[in-house]
Amino acid sequence: MHPPHPTRTTRALINTAALEANYRLLASLAAPHAGLIAVVKADAYGHGCEICVPALLHAGAESFAVVTLEEALAVRALAPSAHILVLGGIFDGQIAAALAQNLTPVVWDLWQLKLLEEAARAQNLPAASIPVHIELDTGMSRQGVSPADLEQFLRTLSSVSVLRVEGIMTHLYAADETNSIATEAQLNLLDRMLAAITRAGIQPEILHAGSSAAIITEIAPRIHTLAARHKMRAALRPGLSLYGIVPEFSPAHLEPPQTLLTAREQLKPVLSWETRVTTLREIPAGAVVGYNGTFVATEPMTLALLPVGYADGLTRSLGNRFSLLVRGQRAPIVGRISMDLTTIDVTEIPGVAVGDEVILIGRQGGEEITAADHARVDGTISWEILTRISGRVPRMAVESK
Ligand SMILES: *Cc1c(COP(=O)(O)O)cnc(C)c1O
Repeated sequence: MHPPHPTRTTRALINTAALEANYRLLASLAAPHAGLIAVVKADAYGHGCEICVPALLHAGAESFAVVTLEEALAVRALAPSAHILVLGGIFDGQIAAALAQNLTPVVWDLWQLKLLEEAARAQNLPAASIPVHIELDTGMSRQGVSPADLEQFLRTLSSVSVLRVEGIMTHLYAADETNSIATEAQLNLLDRMLAAITRAGIQPEILHAGSSAAIITEIAPRIHTLAARHKMRAALRPGLSLYGIVPEFSPAHLEPPQTLLTAREQLKPVLSWETRVTTLREIPAGAVVGYNGTFVATEPMTLALLPVGYADGLTRSLGNRFSLLVRGQRAPIVGRISMDLTTIDVTEIPGVAVGDEVILIGRQGGEEITAADHARVDGTISWEILTRISGRVPRMAVESK
């Protein structure tokens, strides 16, 4: 738990106005074809549910998706009447809490149906009293009922009368690839699987698919058409883009769709990650910096010490390979990043003083460092950069930044 007023100088500022504007923009891009399910798993992609869920509610969100029961309970405490989808399914020992808190689990395996049936029998629940969403695997070979298993799954499902199939979902694995061949194949398979579901006498209310990349590549009308053909309404599940980051598309568009241009222009990063200079130090030529002396000064230098390290989520691989912003200029990280400390070279930046703001992610002066910049150097993606900013970094709500 964080103290009520975080005092640590290393902190993440969460711009709630930007989050609300992003939600409204994505809702308008999806409309009128599809609604939105706001993905707030992993503590709102590291931004903090306590700050983000109320802001999203204020922007009009009615439906949230998380992965674990614990995440769902945290969202429920903040959103008493919202629809909350538990993407990761529920496990033995979790069903009573899920029912009591009106959560909606995703199901895709026979053991989950059995577990729900047993819990319902123990509690004497009436028919159709537990809403579930079925996940269909349309090509990712990950989570979901595969086409080969669908018939048996539906047969078992129809014997579990306590369940009510409220929704059907699938995940698109290549919505960020601009030749949409994989997505086309997935949507065709989804269409056939939906036909099998309605043939089995099941009429779900809602069909949802797609992530940020799907919204931005104008998949909403496609999902809408599919949903309408099977008498359902459609929804999309944005995560990253809510937090103001536009997925990168490959290969790069020759002619980007209007929605991608709009998203690039109008989505605003929600999180800024900052710290302050703790100590300044002059070092002579020949001094080594940090563990194992991976950096050796070739001339006298001025170093600034920062109270942030890999235990805060600043990945160690950025040592000697990345720069941070101070006084609107880029200051290279020198030496290894330690668990709790990082050293930057401010020799060329006049006037740096103890207490100066240093930006790890965000804007300062005319410069900006994005999560994507971190990701590029670390060989990963923005999602991982944001979600690994650790619990030691307090999140603070601000209304602008
Ligand atoms: C995380 C997740 C999303 C959101 O994806 P983004 O790329 O962050 O928009 C959507 N659907 C499912 C099933 C997910 O797990």
